[in-house]
Amino acid sequence: METLYIVIPCYNEEPMLPITAKALMQKMNALIDDGKIRSDSKVMFVDDGSKDKTWEIIEKLHELSPLFTGLKLSRNKGHQNALLAGLMTARNYADIIVSMDADLQDDINAVDGFLEKRAEGCDIVYGVRSSREKDTKFKRNTAQAYYKLLAALGVEITYNHADYRLMSRRAVDALAEFKEVNLFLRGMVPMLGFKSDIVTYVRNERQAGESKYPLKKMISFAVEGITSLSVKPIRFITALGISIFLVSVIMLIYFLMIHAMGRTVHGWTTTVVSVWALGGLQLLAIGIIGEYIGKIYLETKERPKFIIETNLEEKE
Ligand code: UDP
Ligand code: MG
Repeated sequence: METLYIVIPCYNEEPMLPITAKALMQKMNALIDDGKIRSDSKVMFVDDGSKDKTWEIIEKLHELSPLFTGLKLSRNKGHQNALLAGLMTARNYADIIVSMDADLQDDINAVDGFLEKRAEGCDIVYGVRSSREKDTKFKRNTAQAYYKLLAALGVEITYNHADYRLMSRRAVDALAEFKEVNLFLRGMVPMLGFKSDIVTYVRNERQAGESKYPLKKMISFAVEGITSLSVKPIRFITALGISIFLVSVIMLIYFLMIHAMGRTVHGWTTTVVSVWALGGLQLLAIGIIGEYIGKIYLETKERPKFIIETNLEEKE
């Protein structure tokens, strides 16, 4: 039997945490009673620099039951960094780690499926949403288009899988070897290899509190996914530049020809259009390249991805 840690990043989850804790306590106890996991298995909440009482609740849960433990980051670092902090800490105590969100949108009963696949020898099990009916239509459509775009850009990613997954300790140890600071975990995990499988589940609505991913954060996360994992946008710009140059050569030949035929060209429209089109394209190209240079800049700094303020596992 193995020790399971469930890692849950939490940012301002005060209204949600008591509900989540209760549901997970039942789930964990059932799994322990059924002999599916060892009795020293735990739920590790990672407080991502919350501004509300999230940490106080985590401390209280920890006092209440040894089933709960917590990690407090020194400040808000975002979902991906908080999750990584949890994984990197939990691997010191656990054989297998499941990561999930605090809002119970991911069906906790899928963990049974995860454990079955683990028993079959998988090191990584991806939770995949079988339907997104409970998401807003906008979120569903944009997410689907985004997964397709990522696939087209050559990013290996599991369709409709977010960050609900099981990883063995050796898979997390392998992930620790990835030194990059621009994190898009769901795109990095498939690079690890190992035997893996998927378990499908139905995604629910958030039960309390509000989404911590407003549109702005969603877009920047989406851009992060592309620019962290693919250099195809830069190649695309190169190709675009070449094609536009070829078009301008053809245009030049064409205009020289009609000039030779003695027809005057009122070039106003063409000039203005091409100035604006080229100007826009150039700015776009510079912007995309700048995005990558910014990434390189951050990577060279090798700043820590998170700083742990308190680890309740080490307090005793
Ligand atoms: N989260 C976090 N740090 C942040 C933002 C979010 O740790 O800066 C956590 C949040 O508490 C939740 C998970 O990341 O457990 C996913 O966030 P949310 O459910 O709001 O995202 P959505 O499901 O709407 O995409
Ligand atoms: Mg959510």
